[in-house]
Amino acid sequence: MIDPELRRHALAARGFMPEVEGDALFDAACSLRGDAARAPFVEIGSWCGRSTVWLGAAARQQGTVVLAVDHHRGSEENQPGWEWHDPTLLDAATGRIDTLPFFRSTIAGAGLEDVVVAVVGESPVFAACWNAPIGFLFIDGGHGVEPARADYANWTPHVMIGGLLAIHDVFPDPTDGGRPPYEDIYLPALAGGRFEEVSATGSLRVLRRVR
Ligand code: MG
Repeated sequence: MIDPELRRHALAARGFMPEVEGDALFDAACSLRGDAARAPFVEIGSWCGRSTVWLGAAARQQGTVVLAVDHHRGSEENQPGWEWHDPTLLDAATGRIDTLPFFRSTIAGAGLEDVVVAVVGESPVFAACWNAPIGFLFIDGGHGVEPARADYANWTPHVMIGGLLAIHDVFPDPTDGGRPPYEDIYLPALAGGRFEEVSATGSLRVLRRVR
């Protein structure tokens, strides 16, 4: 179980990860054994660092690190006029969303700066530079069709055999939420035969790479 003090820091951060799903994320990452436990964790979409605290706590326990990838400008659905917009995240000088200061504050407050490496940039741009095995991949980036397909194509091949792929905002029922994490990440991962489902908690799905 995650240290209660770390959970408190996670819950104090802004974001959309319910406590039960954060705990499931932590438990899944802590369940890794062998090479997959020692390989880096990668989080796509860190926002203000809420889920990153659960992942960072697990990485510390496993003796590895989390690469937390986000451009910190917000996805389409976070922009003004969209459902998931938070005006208090706007940078007054530029009028643009900037979640990086909130992210830094979350990670520093939780004392996780030694295990969380922030990568500030576009997921596909960073993916083009990445060629190493990943023990735990958490995809919670742009929820449109295009970013979801790109994250699936660019990142899932790097999950090592025995490693885990976690996907957030998976809604099999369309009335519960948007389609791309379900249709363009979760279903293709299972259909391809490379992954098998391990657990489902709320909208969080955890799959294991089996071949
Ligand atoms: Mg999410």
